Amino acid sequence: MKKMPYLSIALSVSLSVTSVFAIAQAGDSADEAAGKQWWAHVQVLADDSMRGRRTGSAEYLKAAAYVVDQFKSYGLEPAGVDGGWYQPVKFDVQRVLAEKSSISLMVDGKATPLVLGEDAILGTRLAQPKQIEAPLVFIGYGLHLPEAKYDDFDSAEVPWASLKGKIVVYVNGGPADLPGPLKSFARTSPFLKALRDAGVIGMISIPTPKSMDFGWQRVASSASQPGMRLAETPDGAAVAKLHPALADDHGEMFSATFNPGEAEKLFAGTGHTFAELLALADAQKVLPHFSLSKSLRAIVSTEVTHVESPNIAAKLTGADPKLKAQYVLVSAHLDHLGVGTPIHGKTIYAGAMDDASGVATVLEVARKFGEAKVRQKRSMLFLVFTAEEKGLLGSRYFAGYPTVPEKDITADLNLDMFMPIFPLKKLHVQGLEQSTLAEEAKAVGAEHHIEIAGDPEPDRNSFIRTDQYSFVQAGVPALAFKFGWTAGSPEYKAWREWLAQRYHSTDDDLTQPVDLVAAAQFNAYLADVARKVADDASAPHYLDSSFFKRFENERYAKTSVTAPIQ
Ligand SMILES: [Zn+2]
Repeated sequence: MKKMPYLSIALSVSLSVTSVFAIAQAGDSADEAAGKQWWAHVQVLADDSMRGRRTGSAEYLKAAAYVVDQFKSYGLEPAGVDGGWYQPVKFDVQRVLAEKSSISLMVDGKATPLVLGEDAILGTRLAQPKQIEAPLVFIGYGLHLPEAKYDDFDSAEVPWASLKGKIVVYVNGGPADLPGPLKSFARTSPFLKALRDAGVIGMISIPTPKSMDFGWQRVASSASQPGMRLAETPDGAAVAKLHPALADDHGEMFSATFNPGEAEKLFAGTGHTFAELLALADAQKVLPHFSLSKSLRAIVSTEVTHVESPNIAAKLTGADPKLKAQYVLVSAHLDHLGVGTPIHGKTIYAGAMDDASGVATVLEVARKFGEAKVRQKRSMLFLVFTAEEKGLLGSRYFAGYPTVPEKDITADLNLDMFMPIFPLKKLHVQGLEQSTLAEEAKAVGAEHHIEIAGDPEPDRNSFIRTDQYSFVQAGVPALAFKFGWTAGSPEYKAWREWLAQRYHSTDDDLTQPVDLVAAAQFNAYLADVARKVADDASAPHYLDSSFFKRFENERYAKTSVTAPIQ
């Protein structure tokens, strides 16, 4: 274990906390010991021998077995399928063979080859067509939001009907006057549906440098990673039947990401420059729509295989005769990127923060509940997901096929890179503005002397980029937690540096600095929030002002699900 620079920082907040969970010793040494106990899980899960816990790998199963052993030792019961701890999930795996693939721009029948990796990378998630040649058309942000009377798929210059058979090109982001959650939602299933409905046959996204967590080099190296989808049969189809929003798309759709540093190539000869469009996008202004007066020709070679990899579920039955039928979920994802392109001479993507740290917190919270002298009222369900890195697939499968009755899921508290890399004074809680769970998050924050704030960077789309969103789509109130900062502060700098240097890099490993005291304080906070939700007489619900209320309405519109007593 490397030096941990923050370990000795003294904070006394734990003394005044009115936690129902036993604190072995008052004071900082208790936090330190609890922090080490938490870190010990990370040390196991992010060890080189786990080889990055890739979904479908033997090492993922080894990590899963460790998690199950811990749950058992805390006295929890299995809550997977067939009385076991696991819920197996089947996946289709697509690898793009870049060396056998090619793309070129076609102007007046003349081909200009592009370099894969430098100019663009091919998408691995959606099924790629073997061969395609089609005109390119620029559709601004690519947002289809008829309900907000905003539609990049249907403009005066490029009407809906003209998109049939085309490849659309769009930049990330959106105009400032559209609400953040709506823009985020538009990037999920409605986007693919709009492409299909308009008869579009391919898409090229251009990330804006401002929206990128790391440089193009890292984006390009991720192209060697295979993409995954929930397997089509038999379970994929059944998921589609249960939850349209959670279904996976299996039709062919050409997809690529273009290097913003090379994107002028796409706009040459159109009377527009990428620089001009980027300036508009950075200012969140409305973008023009126009034909790129060229086509893209692509030959895409792929290899499709199949794997199975399990979610893990453990429960602790509640004490209240009525409320124990309901479940409060605490979740994180176990999978990471496996072994890949070397960065700094290392090939193992250990995923210590992403998300061994979150799994370790699920374990420590489970331990606190298991050891509590007074049992909580509702039942607790501790969930550890597979295939988050592949598009939230494990959680989507669970939300579609819960191992407890769907109507009895009360709330989800999710952890994904909660980032204990500096002292805990503030938390950024995603979803805070959406549901009554904010009350518990804030009340416990006040007890722990932690400032509770909403997501300061809604345009990073974090709320839809991790597993809680699967539950949001299923109408379940959810929160996700991250260490907070103030813009321009040293904490902010540490967070941005972490993203640039370590996020999805081989440097997210056991040698990085971590604040064990802060991690322990966070775990204590989270356990108290979970406990408060579990003990509350009334179940949480979405606010009428929330964009996501629609999913809750859909949930309760189903005959099998009844609304909680409010
Ligand atoms: Zn990740």
